[in-house]
Amino acid sequence: MTDQPQQTVSVEFTIGVGDGQIVASANVPVGATNLTQILPVLQSMEDSMISGMGVQLAEAGHPISCRAGCGACCRQMVPLSIFEAEALAAWIRTLDEPRRQELARRFHQALLSLSASGLIDRMVNEDWLADTESARQLALDYLYQRVACPFLEDESCSIHPIRPLVCREYLVISPPAHCFDPAALQVIPAHPPLHLSRVLNRMGAELEGDARGWIPLLFLFAWMEAGASPGNGYAGTGPEVLHKFLEHIGEAQIPARTAARNAD
Ligand code: SF4
Repeated sequence: MTDQPQQTVSVEFTIGVGDGQIVASANVPVGATNLTQILPVLQSMEDSMISGMGVQLAEAGHPISCRAGCGACCRQMVPLSIFEAEALAAWIRTLDEPRRQELARRFHQALLSLSASGLIDRMVNEDWLADTESARQLALDYLYQRVACPFLEDESCSIHPIRPLVCREYLVISPPAHCFDPAALQVIPAHPPLHLSRVLNRMGAELEGDARGWIPLLFLFAWMEAGASPGNGYAGTGPEVLHKFLEHIGEAQIPARTAARNAD
């Protein structure tokens, strides 16, 4: 039996951003789905917003300086929403055994490196989320360990089409070299009109009743062992699930309490 492609329906919507509005549309499944399953729709929304931002910045004389082959920011702690963790876990399970084992080895090695510096203990303890300065310090300490994301290959993202929203949102207009030493050199972020990653984090926090709703990306292999399906916490037809996501956007415009990668 072959899988039939799901029928989709186009949903038009308006998102308030600052004093303005973004009018957009998205194709979502007509039938039953959940938040994890509509992630490609959210990725597409994010890419459109960021592309528009890039054009505006270039026209203003401040082009985005991020380029393929620069993986400086891929040594930061990546706050991965639990819904994206679920999607990446499902993708990892489709990989052939050698590839899956190689990824498992890289994740394990990265955790060992961080553990040796005491950072794992600090990350598990949520005290560092308590204030901006603690979050900033942990983000810097993490970066200066120079532990690369296990998905980074030849300084490029090996999962580029399915990379987390927060990775899509992290863009700068300062020289790329500054990202290697942000404590000493000024990094000027480009601010997307919305951080859709924060919307997912809020929905994850709401679902789990905890403070963050995300995991450090390096915890992915450990997290996937539990076989959690958080996407089912927001289930319904495609339009219903998209509506639930859009409902959370307003709250997401409040600056995130942390998210080291979004520290700006
Ligand atoms: S997922 Fe990709 S873009 Fe994100 S930190 Fe890892 S290598 Fe970099």
